[in-house]
Amino acid sequence: IVYTHHYFAGTRAQLLERVQAKLSDHRFAHVVRVEKAAIKLAQLNNVSPEKASIAALVHDYSKERSAAEFKQVIQAHQMDPDLLNWGNFIWHGVVGAQIVSDELGISDPEILNAIARHTVGAPEMTLLDQIVYVADFVEDGRDFPDAQIARSLAYADLQGAVSFETKHTLEYLLSSNTQIYPAAILTYNAWVAGR
Ligand code: GDP
Ligand code: FE
Ligand code: FE
Ligand code: FE
Repeated sequence: IVYTHHYFAGTRAQLLERVQAKLSDHRFAHVVRVEKAAIKLAQLNNVSPEKASIAALVHDYSKERSAAEFKQVIQAHQMDPDLLNWGNFIWHGVVGAQIVSDELGISDPEILNAIARHTVGAPEMTLLDQIVYVADFVEDGRDFPDAQIARSLAYADLQGAVSFETKHTLEYLLSSNTQIYPAAILTYNAWVAGR
């Protein structure tokens, strides 16, 4: 896949280098597997493979930053102060999109939204949002019990896979007595309840 330079001012190889510099080997390998799944999903759903590639490669770009750095970005950009009550799992999506914009100069709103929504989803998700959300869940390294089911579903029915993933994630959080981010409930109500 060859980049047009419309969304990132460089080649794919240059973006890979920027991402690799900020991530541990295991997370960089995850990101490259998410890109592979995202490009495949983009081709199946008539979405730009270039945008899918870029969004996938940067979706976890900020995941290894400190809490102090996220808090500083939240304050500097006057983001919702309620974010301060949450942690890395929420910050690396919503605040991560801001960090990607600031550090990598990626400004396409669809790519930034796909990063922001990749962990908890949203009631309304574009095809690109859905692709990154699902690719993150079904990439070839995922080996939880239902991963193969989720993978087959993803390549047959993208919306069905968003629904499956949303329900699966919420069930996991409930079963482990983990706090649920309120926006995750809104995603559940839109994509799972009554379907
Ligand atoms: P990753 O960044 O590739 O590991 O994947 P994600 O960004 O999709 O998920 C990051 C973490 O957030 C995972 O451990 C999820 O189980 C967790 N997570 C997703 N939704 C919620 C939520 O509503 N509350 C909490 N506490 N954790 C969540
Ligand atoms: Fe993530
Ligand atoms: Fe995910
Ligand atoms: Fe991820």
